[in-house]
Amino acid sequence: MARAPLGMTLWTTAFALCAAVSPGAGVERKAFGTMATGETVELFTLKNSKGVTATIIGWGGIVVSLTAPDRAGRFADVVLGYDTLEPYLKPNPYFGALVGRYGNRIAKGEFPLDGQVYHLPKNNGENTLHGGKVGFGQKLWAVREIKAKDGSALELTLTSPDGEEGFPGTLVTRVTYTLTEQSELRIDYEATTDKPTVLNLTNHSYFNLAGPGGGDVLGHVLRLDADRFTPVGKGLIPTGELRSVAGTPFDFRVPTPLGARIDAKDPQLELGGGYDHNFVLNGPAGTLRLAARVVEPRSGRVLEVLTTEPGVQLYTGNFLDGSPGKDGQSYGRRTGFCLETQHFPDSPNQPSFPTTTLRPGAVFKSTTVYRLTTEP
Ligand code: BGC
Repeated sequence: MARAPLGMTLWTTAFALCAAVSPGAGVERKAFGTMATGETVELFTLKNSKGVTATIIGWGGIVVSLTAPDRAGRFADVVLGYDTLEPYLKPNPYFGALVGRYGNRIAKGEFPLDGQVYHLPKNNGENTLHGGKVGFGQKLWAVREIKAKDGSALELTLTSPDGEEGFPGTLVTRVTYTLTEQSELRIDYEATTDKPTVLNLTNHSYFNLAGPGGGDVLGHVLRLDADRFTPVGKGLIPTGELRSVAGTPFDFRVPTPLGARIDAKDPQLELGGGYDHNFVLNGPAGTLRLAARVVEPRSGRVLEVLTTEPGVQLYTGNFLDGSPGKDGQSYGRRTGFCLETQHFPDSPNQPSFPTTTLRPGAVFKSTTVYRLTTEP
């Protein structure tokens, strides 16, 4: 009996399975670029039956694009990034990247754990930012397509050896990206270690819901379910205080444009050059709850962020400097915003913050959902 080549059989079977779940949905893959080592980096496209797509690469676990319709059904890419692999291989503003081992800052590049002090490379003044000199956004993750009951999904895995970037323990991290039929990009994180360690995993996508050429994000209207934030000192290290947002430019409990108070004479905003702060989310951490809702009034696009994490970093792209990005665009100051769900910055040095310690035998788990909808 004549047999179809194995690759084709697998492809046909995978396609049939996806088609059975929802017509039009599935995963496609193609080469995106080649690394100096000769390894090919593939671009995986997750698609749902509404036409929403997310493209993801194993390099840095980066979300390269995410498309969403506006209120008239016109699709646009709502995240910042690059068209090719090359600029992602160089230092960049962490566009779309998975951040680890420790998202955000660790003061003075050191922390104590079980009576020992660990030293990390300093890559942000005197502090360590986003995992050090070579964080998880600059690593090649292994990617495979997996079956998910509610959408198309990819599983990315990365093993970080004991001592890498100064962190103790072999850390095995597994991240699942699922694009659901509800037009949500769900990110499930899981990690284990063989020695006590600390970790803080997040995704660093920059959004502009107006789409390419949409200008700055100051007209985006944000609602953030946070009664408190963690004020910072020099170097953007939290002071340890959980401060009420009431009566400050940090109160987004009522929907407010990002630009309404961003240049207010406020010592905290001056330190960040705008918003670059961690908010203490209301509701119990560990439970998936709505944390933020952002509306872009011109397009009607809406982004909702749900998370199990205790905090979220609102970063208004204050350090974007006009460098070139996708499709001949240049990404100027404040042309993208991030909502990085996370544990609080510098937690390993702040005993009163929710712990970021992971011990052997325990499994770290967290989930964040970026849901795209529209409003009239
Ligand atoms: C930080 C910013 C930083 C940006 C890009 C954010 O998470 O809080 O200060 O500039 O990431 O690195």
